[in-house]
Amino acid sequence: MTELIGTSIRKLHQMLASKEVSAREILKAHLDQINRHESEIDAFNCLTDKLAEKKADEIDKLVASGSELPALAGIPIAIKDNICIKDYKTTCSSKVLADFVPPYDATVAIKVLQAGALPVGKTNMDEFAMGSSTENSANKLTRNPWNTKTVPGGSSGGSAASVAAGFSVVSLGSDTGGSIRQPASFCGVVGMKPTYGMVSRFGLVAFASSLDQIGPFGRSVEDVAYVLSTISGHDPSDSTSIQQAAPDFVAALTGNISGMKIAVIKEFLAEGIDPVVRESIVAAAETYRKLGAQVDEVSMPNFKHALPVYYLLATAEASANLARYDGVKYGHRNKEAKDILSMYYKTRQEGLGAEVKRRIMLGTFALSSGYYDAYYKKAQQVRRLIKEDFDKAFAKFDLVICPTAPSTAFEFGSKTADPLSMYLSDIATIPANLAGIPGISLPCGFDQGGLPIGLQLLGPALSDAKLLNAAHAFEQATEFHKRYSPMLSKVTAS
Ligand code: GLN
Repeated sequence: MTELIGTSIRKLHQMLASKEVSAREILKAHLDQINRHESEIDAFNCLTDKLAEKKADEIDKLVASGSELPALAGIPIAIKDNICIKDYKTTCSSKVLADFVPPYDATVAIKVLQAGALPVGKTNMDEFAMGSSTENSANKLTRNPWNTKTVPGGSSGGSAASVAAGFSVVSLGSDTGGSIRQPASFCGVVGMKPTYGMVSRFGLVAFASSLDQIGPFGRSVEDVAYVLSTISGHDPSDSTSIQQAAPDFVAALTGNISGMKIAVIKEFLAEGIDPVVRESIVAAAETYRKLGAQVDEVSMPNFKHALPVYYLLATAEASANLARYDGVKYGHRNKEAKDILSMYYKTRQEGLGAEVKRRIMLGTFALSSGYYDAYYKKAQQVRRLIKEDFDKAFAKFDLVICPTAPSTAFEFGSKTADPLSMYLSDIATIPANLAGIPGISLPCGFDQGGLPIGLQLLGPALSDAKLLNAAHAFEQATEFHKRYSPMLSKVTAS
């Protein structure tokens, strides 16, 4: 059943509806692919195959009864390990949550399950989503399916690798500063961070609450649109979720972008961006011109402050959000401590990794009295300036484009000793989180070593449908998305 791997949602649905294939067979093909290659990739913290099998049987009964199939019926999905699925461990790839079993489902988990998706497993990530390579996981290293010497990106590295390796058709990740878009770029798949508030975060373990968003990965823009339509919409359990019904993002994919005004962000074609990445973005701008868009350049003068602003605000919020891991209510607890204070200390000492501790300390410092005005408050003011750069650009243009990341996937260990160089991999993705706007990354080229390059499209808040359509138009006009990672092209070719 290898021909089922690498197939689109649309095609799988046709095959299901015509009874050419069953949901059980679709699932088996993907579980077989996991069995063949998971030891090389290590995308998963745990498999949820029993739950997937139960869901597949439900879908096969629906097919037999001739009922209408829900939007993700029979579609294998992988879910990042900071999103709760009831009765399955949610570890956030941290020792402190190594044995945490949530007694409830995240809203997105409920939605994908109700839509008939088959959850194959919980994916590896940087601990508490802090990182850009998945090397900060306390569990294991996830390797990039295109070249296992390189990182899959992060923090949603397991979710991106799962789709690139054909372990699942789609997956869910979270994006606080680029953690969906950057690994999508490194793994040659499509990844989207929706508008802040578009998707409920109930049941997502919080990192930095004013920035976090859940979003989908897929091998095509259309597959991503199917998942986003399923998971978006107002949720009374999340007070930051937007008061609107879920839009039909698939219907928005007309492919017509004629007359659309697009600007390339000047600052991201300059120093610090690999020449091969820059060339692909220039070529992408040309593709848009050929498709009938008006293409120009725009300057974002305040973007140079985005990295320090993000690392003050994200760490400040994280220091508050992670205060709950103290061994009292859930998660790891040190058993030797003789009093409550040393129990807190020892629990956190043992349970949290180096990067997480670094950020808690930085954030606590930025929020401390005497430093608050100089750091936290100032960062909030500059955050506003960055948003105003976008506002000015969107007064003239429908959307802006730039690379998703300054380089293609790098080798293991090449940035771990220098946190600043690691932080720089998110230079182009962070501004969207600070402004709350949607962003999507899709394949737009390959470097000399055959590693994928990602094109990022950014639009104003609530322009998600327009963004998807512009991405779809690019995809239709190019062949990049048709090239698969070696372990996926091997099975699709056979
Ligand atoms: N890489 C960034 C960080 O380390 C972004 C992480 C994310 O989006 N979760 O904070």
